Amino acid sequence: MGIMDSLRSMFGGKPKAAPEVKPEAKPVPKAPEVKAPEVKKEVAPKKEEVKVTKPKVAYVHLSGCTGCLVSLADTYEKLLDILGAVDMVYNLTLADARTLPEGKVDIAIVEGGVCLQDEESVHLIKETREKAGLVVAYGGCSATGNVLNFSRGGQWNQPQHESFVPINRLIKVDAYIPGCPPAPEVIYNFCIAAVTGDTEYLKPFMANEAGGYHCGCDLNTRVIENSLCMGCGTCAASCPTRAIEMVYGRPSFNNIRCIKCGACSFACPRTFLPVNKIKTLLV
Ligand code: SF4
Ligand code: SF4
Repeated sequence: MGIMDSLRSMFGGKPKAAPEVKPEAKPVPKAPEVKAPEVKKEVAPKKEEVKVTKPKVAYVHLSGCTGCLVSLADTYEKLLDILGAVDMVYNLTLADARTLPEGKVDIAIVEGGVCLQDEESVHLIKETREKAGLVVAYGGCSATGNVLNFSRGGQWNQPQHESFVPINRLIKVDAYIPGCPPAPEVIYNFCIAAVTGDTEYLKPFMANEAGGYHCGCDLNTRVIENSLCMGCGTCAASCPTRAIEMVYGRPSFNNIRCIKCGACSFACPRTFLPVNKIKTLLV
């Protein structure tokens, strides 16, 4: 006990406790940093861009009534499929391009026949042939002459415009779609087959017999006289002027009503019968 403590105890005080010496806190060693293993992000391989080139299509309007184009529009929502599948580069009724585009087009769909006395029409059909990979005579006037076969000229104000011909009289035609007008389903199926390269479906359209002069009497020479008629009535159903009537199970043809569109002999299953294609369409 020191002097101060002895004095405190003499006067009744308590000796001062020695100051507590706290042991120095040892620094806690830091836990080693555990790094999470690097997760490598899988980078998806870049998809190769597949560029689909749509076929360029020109719709050429000659001496026709625009009914064939209306039939194309009558495909309703399917028209969007057609317009989506092709690049329509020329169509005076629907777009503002005044002339056929420079360079080649893949498909030219031609409506109307050609007036031989109209220089511009003759020039246009020849230019169409030069530029197009595939020329399609669309509709009776273009494919068979149709009502234009009755033209004799002598009418105001171009009395000299008297000779109208189907386009195959002036150029080589690759495919024909007869009918006045052709049914919307036919033009739809044709367009899709042309875009997808379905040659089996296109075959009957590419036959020469589908184009040029036609009349209801073709049924006599091509079908009935060859004992091929089975009396199905398809010809009568396809005639736009009701020039064909079924009599005793055979077509009877009225020459006065016939407009020479060629639809009847084109529709007759005995002039062609793409059996395999029909089967796939029926499934
Ligand atoms: S008979 Fe009828 S379908 Fe046949 S060519 Fe004449 S108008 Fe056309
Ligand atoms: S479509 Fe042909 S097979 Fe059928 S009735 Fe007419 S001519 Fe005969």
